[in-house]
Amino acid sequence: MRIRRPFVTMAVLGLTAAGLPPLAEAADPVCPWVGSATPIPDRVAQVLGEMTPAEKLSMVHGSAGPFDLAGPVYAGLVQPIPRLCVPSLGLSDGSAGIGNSQTGVTQLPSPTALAAGWDPSLAAAYGDVLGAEIRGKGANVALAPAIDIARDPRAGRSYETLGEDPALTGELAVAEIRAIQRHGVLAQAKHLAAYSQETLRNTALGNVTVDERTLQEIYLPAVERAVRDGGVASVMCGYNHLNGVHACNNTYLLSQVLKGQFGFDGFVTSDWYGMTASVAAANAGLDMQMPDGCYFGKRLGQGARLDDMVRRVLGQMFRFGLFDRPASGSPSAVVTSPRHAAIARDVAEQGTVLLKNADSILPLRRSDSVAVIGSAAGADVLGSGGGSAHVIAQAVKTPYDAISGYGNASFDDGSDPARAARVAAASDVAVVFAAKWSTESKDAPDITLPDNALIDRVAAANPNTIVVLNTGGPVAMPWLARVKGVLAAWYPGQEYGAALAALLYGDVNPSGKLPITFPASLDQVPARAFPDGRFTERLAVGYRWYDQQGLNPLFPFGFGLSYTRFELSDLNVSGDVVEASVTNTGSRPGAEVVQLYVTHPAADGEPPRLLKGFEKVSLAPGATQRVRFSLTPRDLSHWDSTAHQWIRTVGDYGISVGTSSRDLPLTGVVSVPRAVTSAPTPPPPPGAPSGGDTAGDALANILTCPNATAFSTLLGAVSLVGLPKAPQAVVPPANPS
Ligand code: BGC
Repeated sequence: MRIRRPFVTMAVLGLTAAGLPPLAEAADPVCPWVGSATPIPDRVAQVLGEMTPAEKLSMVHGSAGPFDLAGPVYAGLVQPIPRLCVPSLGLSDGSAGIGNSQTGVTQLPSPTALAAGWDPSLAAAYGDVLGAEIRGKGANVALAPAIDIARDPRAGRSYETLGEDPALTGELAVAEIRAIQRHGVLAQAKHLAAYSQETLRNTALGNVTVDERTLQEIYLPAVERAVRDGGVASVMCGYNHLNGVHACNNTYLLSQVLKGQFGFDGFVTSDWYGMTASVAAANAGLDMQMPDGCYFGKRLGQGARLDDMVRRVLGQMFRFGLFDRPASGSPSAVVTSPRHAAIARDVAEQGTVLLKNADSILPLRRSDSVAVIGSAAGADVLGSGGGSAHVIAQAVKTPYDAISGYGNASFDDGSDPARAARVAAASDVAVVFAAKWSTESKDAPDITLPDNALIDRVAAANPNTIVVLNTGGPVAMPWLARVKGVLAAWYPGQEYGAALAALLYGDVNPSGKLPITFPASLDQVPARAFPDGRFTERLAVGYRWYDQQGLNPLFPFGFGLSYTRFELSDLNVSGDVVEASVTNTGSRPGAEVVQLYVTHPAADGEPPRLLKGFEKVSLAPGATQRVRFSLTPRDLSHWDSTAHQWIRTVGDYGISVGTSSRDLPLTGVVSVPRAVTSAPTPPPPPGAPSGGDTAGDALANILTCPNATAFSTLLGAVSLVGLPKAPQAVVPPANPS
């Protein structure tokens, strides 16, 4: 894949500052656009002017063979054009570390665990690992971050999301994208838009019906932030149909909103085999087919948009220095490192949420005898979920190994609950490890933990029982009243054991907060049956629903306990600026997340409270810090579906500040004296389709691209079966012998 020609210039290796011209010394005599200080649009025009029609087409699709599920080296590969010094473009998963069955990589905690840290600097560290490792593997596009909104806890890919709130998702995504891109690697935010269920994906039955206001307020803001504030190079369209039109040939999403309203000048790729149209997809605004090339190769011809599509791809390749530095890295390289492992551990520590701690059962004392129950503390530990975000660690540190390093631990795998209960009864404390597998391609039927019976037996045998949840997202806890402690550890990555033991024994004070509501039971979630593509809850996604319906969830959004205590005080609202103080009133150092929610004037028709600001503050015992939030006009705006624009209406906006969406002791008001509106969504570009391919094009797709058409349909069928549980590590985790 390397281009065998001397490189006359070299941009800064590893640290190409996206957007800056390369540090050119002299232009290449053969390919003058290489290493030149000419503005990027001109360099793009120079290359484009030299390209043959076939070369242009080769830039807008991957190179997987007709029967390959992925590209020849990475998840996707755009072939180089050596004649014109155009390097290859390697696209690699994924959202929780390097995927695609590669080894020598760091298995990071799941994105939901990252979100539970509520800390943009943690998201930057996460993106730093991703960017460095993608670069080390020789790829140049990170298929991350996933910025889908967690709409239903049963969604197979819920664990890949940054939670249920658009503001939290957007803020973390921006930090992660910038960090990835600092490595000269293009980030690809995914999946545009409202992709939130696996069942029958990529078929018309996987359609979701979402009104414009809900799209704009819930499912699109994180995409806008990724574009405007993250400067994301690329966006992937989803497998879902949206309001009857597939997301990858959806003119409204791709051209009117992403490229028009948000001003996105990068390129959009299809999700893998996620195309149900060829000509219509290009005309709707899709720029690149992945991972194969039939729809945008043989089938596309020299379509009207081709030059613009190529221009967008080349523009980002120039922006990230791909033309100006020699290819480096290799798929066989070992890219994990102690520094990356330390970041994985930090995310696991900060993202674990302490949900219950009755009688201050935690932290444990080293003198406690601890019964470690459940094979999820050993052989069946889940560092990673399934699908394209699945990452294979070199080794996963198991909870049992780490706990036994602290104190006196015994183990039972939980396969015989009666025996496990006897082991639990013989110890001071019992810690039950309960895992649940989730994966791309399969939604779960429920939020039931497989180990409920085991937990009941252990809790009956030992009053000091603690449950550690090793799940993709929320589960019901029918045993909650009978246990003393609960921790949500999500899919915590390769450093799980070390992180968890440090939290259990108090070396690290828990500070994670839920980025997703834990329902008391499935009856509380809006969609009775799932999947249900009718988004009838409209704006009331996540905590907005519970607040609107007056429901008490098991654990609310934003909630998480600490081994110390915090108090908020002294709210001051002045103009658009909100300030409050937070004090650590306990006896240990710890961190609290101060959260700001806005209540719109009733006429705006919003759910009761919307998160508009947060800040994580670390405090020594007795210390106080002032936090300050500046509310922008957009923070107080709602979407006007008639004018197709944001509007901040005149009126009084309630301000609530606290430490979870249901613990908001400080309240105030921001008075808005005048209305502010944004530019409206532009109309469709001339010639853009309102649906899929014409009947003639659709027939030609089948005749010309039978394999691509079959794969595309197969995605829906696979979702009915799911993917098997995947290996967690090169060295499989084990139960103690
Ligand atoms: C997923 C994407 C992923 C791609 C490449 C698809 O199945 O939906 O998120 O990046 O595969 O592996």
